[in-house]
Amino acid sequence: MKVRFLGTAAGGGAPQWNCGCRVCEHARREGVSRTQDGLAVSGDGASWYLVNASPDLRTQLLATPEIRPPPGTRDTPIRGVLFTSAELDHTLGLLGLRETTALDVYATASVHDALKTAFPIEAALGGYTRVREHRVRDGEPFDLDGGLRVTTVVLSGKRPRYAAALPAGEWVSAYRFETSGGVFVYAPGLSTWHTELVTGADVVVLDGTFLTEDELGPDRPASGMGHLAIREVLPLLGAHPGPRYVFTHLNNTNPLVLPGAPELAELAEVNASVAADGHLLEI
Ligand SMILES: [Zn+2]
Repeated sequence: MKVRFLGTAAGGGAPQWNCGCRVCEHARREGVSRTQDGLAVSGDGASWYLVNASPDLRTQLLATPEIRPPPGTRDTPIRGVLFTSAELDHTLGLLGLRETTALDVYATASVHDALKTAFPIEAALGGYTRVREHRVRDGEPFDLDGGLRVTTVVLSGKRPRYAAALPAGEWVSAYRFETSGGVFVYAPGLSTWHTELVTGADVVVLDGTFLTEDELGPDRPASGMGHLAIREVLPLLGAHPGPRYVFTHLNNTNPLVLPGAPELAELAEVNASVAADGHLLEI
């Protein structure tokens, strides 16, 4: 299995266009850029699936050699898109795929509903290409091209702010990808610990939005925004050795946005690291 990190930042990216905080300023000065969260995964290196479609998707696709069209064709190795949530940083890029002839979209019923009503980009996309909707369900495995078996793990019912009027449901999920070569788990929005995510996994990608619970100040705790802070997770990783752990979806306030941050040493103690845009994992 191959996994290419397309983007590794939370909403807004890093640096964020309207932010002059210490981390964003440092990132600007050093030329550090993290685009918004998403990845491409393939079981056989030929058929690829996107997980999330960030507003930075076009730039991310152009930077990823594995998903270029075969020379002389108008075609794509991208076979579909899976959504972990309906948040804007995960879905705004969907319309950027409208030039394709057909698109398979995998998400929970709640996420599909949001993308057809409160934020109807899936419906709009239907005017340009054939959208095939696949409703994924908690714990029910499904098979994708290239020998990928995927299991959805529903993590929380945290709705996007634009979808506050929609019913409660399965709003945030992780995916567990399995091939004969190993198990890869992608959980960029983790609000509470789920041991089943890490059991038997080779690599687990976790929510790295915030380093600390009070990173945005005492009035805006990470847990109140649906994110388990990295420092809350590290002891749990120590208690579940075995997988390699990687944090992604970093907010621009997180000091780990910057390469060489001293806090990386805390992660290394529990076999954890921070993802970088363009990083390739082979499992
Ligand atoms: Zn900032």
